[in-house]
Parts: sequence; structure tokens; C-alpha cells
Amino acid sequence: MDARPADPAHGRSQHENHPDRAASDAGWSLRQTRYDPDGRARDESLFALANGSLGVRGNFEESVSGSDGCFLAGVYERHPIEFHERLPGFARNTDTRVPVADGKHIAILLDDEPLDTAQCEWLDFERTLDLRSGCLRRRSRLRTPQGATLQIESERLVSLDADALGIRFSVTSIDYSGTLTLASTIRTGQRPARQGDDPRIGVVGSHRLDTLAVAADANVASLAQRTRQSGIALCCAQTHRLDGGPLVFLDAELEDHRAVQRFRAELRPGQSAALEKFVAYASSGEGVTDALAPVADAIALAVETADGGYAALAAAQAATLDAFWRDADIDVIGDARTQLSLRFNLFHLMQSASRDARNGTAAKGLTGEGYEGHCFWDTEVFVLPVMLYTAPSIARAMLGYRYRKLDAARANAREMNHPRGALYPWRTIAGAECSAHYPSGSAAYHINADIAYAIGLYLDATGDTGFLLEGGAEMLFETARIWPQAGHFDPLRGGAFGIHDVTGPDEYTALVDNNFYTNRMAQRHLLRAVAVWESLSASHSKELRALAERLSLAQEEIDLWRRAAEAMQLPVDARLGILAQDDTFLHKPRWDLTDHNHDRPLLLDFHPLTLYRHQVCKQADVVMALALAGDGFDAGLKRRSFDYYEAITTHDSTLSPAIHGIVASELGLHEKALHYFTEALRVDLDDLHGNTDHGVHMAAMAGSWLGVAWGFAGLRVIDGELTFTPTLPAGWNGYRFGVHWRGRRLRIDVARDGVRYRLSGGDALRIDHGGQSLLLQPDAETRAPLHLHAAEAP
Ligand code: BGC
Repeated sequence: MDARPADPAHGRSQHENHPDRAASDAGWSLRQTRYDPDGRARDESLFALANGSLGVRGNFEESVSGSDGCFLAGVYERHPIEFHERLPGFARNTDTRVPVADGKHIAILLDDEPLDTAQCEWLDFERTLDLRSGCLRRRSRLRTPQGATLQIESERLVSLDADALGIRFSVTSIDYSGTLTLASTIRTGQRPARQGDDPRIGVVGSHRLDTLAVAADANVASLAQRTRQSGIALCCAQTHRLDGGPLVFLDAELEDHRAVQRFRAELRPGQSAALEKFVAYASSGEGVTDALAPVADAIALAVETADGGYAALAAAQAATLDAFWRDADIDVIGDARTQLSLRFNLFHLMQSASRDARNGTAAKGLTGEGYEGHCFWDTEVFVLPVMLYTAPSIARAMLGYRYRKLDAARANAREMNHPRGALYPWRTIAGAECSAHYPSGSAAYHINADIAYAIGLYLDATGDTGFLLEGGAEMLFETARIWPQAGHFDPLRGGAFGIHDVTGPDEYTALVDNNFYTNRMAQRHLLRAVAVWESLSASHSKELRALAERLSLAQEEIDLWRRAAEAMQLPVDARLGILAQDDTFLHKPRWDLTDHNHDRPLLLDFHPLTLYRHQVCKQADVVMALALAGDGFDAGLKRRSFDYYEAITTHDSTLSPAIHGIVASELGLHEKALHYFTEALRVDLDDLHGNTDHGVHMAAMAGSWLGVAWGFAGLRVIDGELTFTPTLPAGWNGYRFGVHWRGRRLRIDVARDGVRYRLSGGDALRIDHGGQSLLLQPDAETRAPLHLHAAEAP
């Protein structure tokens, strides 16, 4: 089979079914001016709000939707994985983040008749996600089948400081006279999505959480739940403020699966009735004994949140976001659509990234049920770098989560027959491996190197030795220990160190020897572990001794790591003059991509073995290694490798295009770079993979920010030093972004007439600009010429 070279103009079709999206004057709001019932689930993901712990999908308060949901990052259900032929070490259970009680509902009744928005005529609609204030605003004008016209306005936010939600909701009568009832409701969450034919969503054996208690009076209502297998308890509580409007409390109603507080007003044309609703969550960890313990906490938090009213909550939120954007804003001059899309993506990353080390950051954030709420390598290789440079405390919290799961990673290593060290699971919530398919799950050993990579980035960018002493070094060492147990010095290859039977990022090839990405990243991991050992020996010998003793780690093992790294097998195919994806990949027949339908991933139609037997890549693998650790390879080798693998890559993973774009930028392939960048940028806004319904794609969104920083601006960290090789994409007049670097803020401003670096805080900083060393002075601007690449090869 022969594969057609990839064509930048060819790819998934741009869905043009929502032309009004992403139009904004101010560049800070995502606006939708037409209600699109067919795109409802997709829009619930796009307009979801979150705070790293609580996620609330964007459905309207007054209507019920089958794809709606609220999630708590720490609330998951456990399902046994049933294997007909179970072998040692196979994962036993999968954890699934399940929808929890949903407190955002406010049903409308007119003269006691429930309003069904699906039966109404939509006269006017506008929904806006304001990225600067974090508020989701909506105005709908509806005509009921009985002929009453109403205007519904709502504004809501999920607090970035607590697991609480504030809603301001009002109904205005245009021509209706009669009774209006608002039934403010906490409902038990949806049933978790079932897995159909798409392994990327849902689970087998899904069921709702048990409802333990419901309560409601004039002041507060609450609904307590518990998961059946994992034994996690939670409570959702609500309270309201009426603030002198026409609404008065009517009554409370309890059902098994609902707690309702009703408010009533008499309305005449031109009159409005408004309330403010405050919803709060509290939850326990696994195996709770007092399942009702979260009730008092949730009620207290709801009442506390209501205290200053919605305006105070919104002001606090705006202040938090203001601080975030001050550092993190990214500007594209001359391309408003790209600018808004980048901000939108960054907003989603910021709000879904875990900020407290208790929870992980899932592949779909907190915006939907896709990938069961699992964390993968997406977290460390895509999301974390963005957070590191824009909001480093979040990056620190993300690493803190992995440290909390170190014991679970040790247990996973033992399951996998490694007597020493820790092996992080491929997909997880609570720390155990949740993949039922070991060839593309447990075998993805590169997860250890990915976490080590993120630790390295963090250390370079912050110089935070405290982190090393508080778990960073322990994680690095324990994970490094796995490599000598997964590989050996191969006498048939002159003693080169090979790593065997692992799966790299490209999951269309599995269980291979010497996967290039894994070997390269393991090499970096081992060298970083050795360097940290040496620097701690010099600076904190007492602490290092105590740690080494606790881990039974001796100098011989460190020497072994160094030898393995130095002898690491990184094969080049001499015939093709390219890097080989693994020992056998280039010997297989190529998959014929001539009539390939890029809208449908191969994994949905072919047995994995069929894919494994061919040269076809789901996503960047060698190219990925070049993006993360490509220094030291010559430009010709990189270019030939890029061309070769690009031609056989389907990009069936949303992680792939951004990485291709970054390497294309480095190679001076500017048109391709922009094309791939746009694929990552618009992955959810244009629903390019047709599955934004199940949540937005954190890694691809992060990939768009990285596409600017690592791609167009050429940011790399080489031997601990920041380097840039900025270029300007066609059609842009300039771009600006900021990075945190060792307690300083560095703003990079790229324009046609040159590049400006502005440093604030701290001491002078030496950086490399396209091969030229620059010493940046604090609070001053340093100008440099725009880096010009060698002309793009035809
Ligand atoms: C990709 C993985 C990724 C996962 C979650 C899969 O389709 O191949 O690399 O970690 O999605 O985003």
C-alpha cells in the first residue's frame, strides 16, 4: 500500500453550521446569536464553566437536556473490568467520573403549566461567554404555544475559589398576565453515558448514584448522594436571594430524586421577576463512613456564597480572572478570530486545570463525559506547559496531584512485576490503571517520562528546589527506576540500551522495541534524574541521604541510569535517512491513505492488529519527540523525518496537529505550520472531530497556545536557558504573549518590524534569540530582529 502525502488543505471539513460563533467586537466574548437545537450538546461543552474541581455544562437553567451534566473531579464510580481471559497484571477496575446532582435548574411555570422550551418559538437568542469576567450570560425571547411572550435572562459563574455556582435569573413578561412560578431545583445527575461503538466515551455497566437524603425549606435545599462502588459521598445545596422583587417563597417539594424550592409572582406585561441562586457542593473521599457529612458543609458554603449576593461573587471572580489575564493574555494583531479562539482555549484550560493537587486534569477537563474523566499524558505534555508559563501555581498543583498518586504508581509497578520504582498508569482518576486494553494502555510506559518531562520543565522555569524536596525528586527517581527494568544493554547491538515491548504515542502501533519517542524521552528522564541527584548531593546532602535511604536508592543505580541514558538506542534508518519509529515499523507495508475519510478515525473500523501491521500513524510520534526533545538532531534529518511521518499520519488523535505545526514552524514550513495550528486552535469551536458533544479537548486547546509559543515564537528550553526563534505567520501583523520565568515575567512581542522582549521583576536574564545571546534588563525593552527562516522548501 502506498500513502498519499498529507496535504495541508485537506483534512476534516470545517463545519459551517454556526457562523455566528466566535464573532466579537471586544475580542473577549464568545457570542452565539442563534439557538441551534441540533448543536445543543456541543454548545453545552463549549459554554461549560469550571474551577478545576467542579464543572457545569452550558445547558439553560429552565430546560432539561439529555446531554447536560455537572461533575466533581473527585467523584467517580468504580466498575470492574471483566476479562474472559484475565492474565496477571491486567487492570481490575475502571473509574468513571459520573454526573452528580445538578443544582442549576430553574423550571418556569405559567399559571401552573410547566414551560417546555422545546415547544416554544425562539424569537431572539443571545448567549455570551465573557472570558474576562468568567460569566456566562444569556437572553432568550420565547413565545409559548399558548401565545405568551417572555424574555428570560440569566447570568452564571462557577467560582474559582470554592465549589460553588452563582446564578442571576429573571423572567420578563412581554405580553403575559398571570402567575409565574420559578421552581428552583436540585436534580440527581444524569445516568452516565453508556459506551456504544465509540471507545472514547462512556462505560459498560453505568448507573446513577444513590440518593441518600433530600431536604428543602424556605431557606435552603439539599440533595445528598453516594457512589455505589467507590463509596464517595457528596451533597449539593442551594439557597436564594430575592432582594425585594415581586417573587415570594411559595413552598418546598421533595421527591426521591429532586429537591425543589418554589417562588411565585404575579406578572403583567413589562414586569420582571428575578432571583439569585447559589449552589454549593461538598464531597468526601473514597470509602466514607459518614455519608451525610458533606451535607452541613455544602449548606454552609451555599449560605456563605449567597452572603454578598451575586454582584459580590461576580466582582471576586472578575478580580481573580483579571490577575490571570494580566499575566496570561495572548494577543494576535490583525486576526481577531484567532485571537478570540486562543483566549477561549486558554480560558478553558485555566478553568479545568486542577488547582489544588487533590484532583487530576482530565483529557476533557470538567466539560463532559468523554474519556470517562480520565487523566492521560495530555495533562503533563500539553496542559501543564501552558499553565507553567501562564499560571505556575496551577502547574505546581498539577504535579502535586501526581505526587499524591505516587503510592498508587508504585502499586501499579508491582502489578507489572517491577520490584522497584513507580509506573504511572496510562489513564486514571484515583491512581490505578483504568485501561482495559494493555497494548495501548499499560504498555504506554512513556507516561513516566512525560511526567518527568513536566517536572523538568517546571524546575527549569521556576528553579523551585523546595518542590524537589517535597516530592519532585522522589517522583523523578522512582519513575526513572522503571527504565532499567523495561530494557537492557543489548549485546547484539554493541551494548546499546534498548527498551522493549512498549507503546509510544502513536497507538496505531503497539508493543514494539525501541519506540523512538519512548527511548528519547526516557533518555532525558534518566539524565534529569542523575542531574537532580547530583545537584541535591551538593546542595541538600542530608535530605538526599534521607530520601535515598527511604527508597533504598544507592549510587550504583544512579550510575546505571547514566550509562543507560548514554547508551540509549535512538535508531536512524540509513536507507531513508530518517529516525525510525521503532525497530520494525519501517519494515511494514504502508497503509493506503488515498481514499481515506479523515472524518472517521481508523480505530472505529479496523481491528488494532490490522493497524499494527501497517505503517500508519494515529498521531505524531517521532515528530512528537522532535518537538519535545529535538535538540541535537541535524536539520536535514528532522526535515526528512517530518516529511516521511507526516505522509502516513491520519491525525485521528486531536493531539497530533499542534505538534506537527510546532515542528513545521521549526523547519520553516510556514504554511503547514499555520494550517496545523488552526486545526488545534479550532478543534472544538468548529467541532473538527465531531465529538465536542462529550467535552472539549484540553490537549488540542493547549496545543494552540503551544503552537504560538513553541511553534511561531520557537520557544525552547535548552540546557536550562530560554531560546526563541520568532517568525510571523502569514496574515498576522503581530502577536504577543507572556511567560513566567524564574520569578520574572517576560513578555514577547513579535511584529513585522522586529521582536521586543520586556522583562519585569527579578534580575537581568540571558536568553537566546535565533542564535544571538541577549541580556534582558528588568523593566526595560530589548529589541531584536525578526528571525528569518531559510526559505521554505518547495
Ligand atoms: C490519544 C491519546 C490521548 C487520549 C486522551 C487518545 O485518542 O491517542 O494520546 O492521551 O486520546 O486525549
